[in-house]
Amino acid sequence: MITCDELARDVSMTRPHVVLLGAGASKAAFPYGDADGRVVPLMDDLAQVVPGLDRVLADAGIDSSRNFEEVYSGLVEAGVNDTARSVEKLVQEYFSSLRMPSKSTLYDHLLLSLRSKDAMFTFNWDPFLFDAYERNRALALPQLYFLHGNVRVGCCNRHRLWGPQSAVCPLCSTPFEPLPLLYPVRNKRYSDSGDYMNAQWENARGYFRNALIFTVFGYSAPSSDAEAMRLLNSAWDERGDRLVEHVEIIDRPNLESDESQQIQNRWQSFVHYHHVIMWGSFEESLLSRFPRRTCESFIQASTRGLPSEIASVPRVDELEEIQQWYGRIAQFEGS
Ligand SMILES: [Zn+2]
Repeated sequence: MITCDELARDVSMTRPHVVLLGAGASKAAFPYGDADGRVVPLMDDLAQVVPGLDRVLADAGIDSSRNFEEVYSGLVEAGVNDTARSVEKLVQEYFSSLRMPSKSTLYDHLLLSLRSKDAMFTFNWDPFLFDAYERNRALALPQLYFLHGNVRVGCCNRHRLWGPQSAVCPLCSTPFEPLPLLYPVRNKRYSDSGDYMNAQWENARGYFRNALIFTVFGYSAPSSDAEAMRLLNSAWDERGDRLVEHVEIIDRPNLESDESQQIQNRWQSFVHYHHVIMWGSFEESLLSRFPRRTCESFIQASTRGLPSEIASVPRVDELEEIQQWYGRIAQFEGS
């Protein structure tokens, strides 16, 4: 057995742990809403949650009870541009207004569980991952990529740089432009969605090619995202020597076995020799059991048969206390 102290001193792995977040991760992190109790919507209830959205859709004669991405896609395809713009504005305003609670959240733990060689990709528009990054950045954190845009992020397409929407490009001093949030899903063409988004997807390819561990958290891989799945899968497959690999899914607890099996099947093509592992909560995942050392603990177990001691992550409200706890592991990571 490798003790927590021994594992903390092992920073031998360079291959990344890659995490993909969907709306279910934000829902799990904020089951009672944001700091002000505002509901974090899923695509299925977005039209009912964002104030005014059902009215705009009703005025345009659109059934708002359907999945929001499909509704929006229909609007764009039908050329109903005024409505599409009103919808975008309402969605942007609502997600921008969401606020992190001051106490520690699951997103703080999620970010602090990875280190700078690792990467996190999100499809979410909400500001929680970005805001959690801002308040924990004293520690080395994973690289972040916003695959569908984000309400806090702006970019300079010319220099392919991004940062807080309120900032300016460090190379040309022009204010960062907001990212487009909404992508018509039926005909998603990531390659046509601007230089910034292209760069995000190129990065995704690079990380997926080299990933040792892949965690999918709260993302159901809907059939409407077939193009995204195809891109990620082809990058994962580009590495021919992928003998050791681990794919884990974090989804809701107590899923019916049918539903659980369906979700696992969607990711099975990423795994050639192993099964996809499914967890009902973040706390059960490798991220929470072996924070910042997921790849090292996995390699020790799979190649030498040596299990690692499970970390006792403090589940307390004080953010500073958890930052200090993760900091004691991070101190061995060098610069
Ligand atoms: Zn620039």
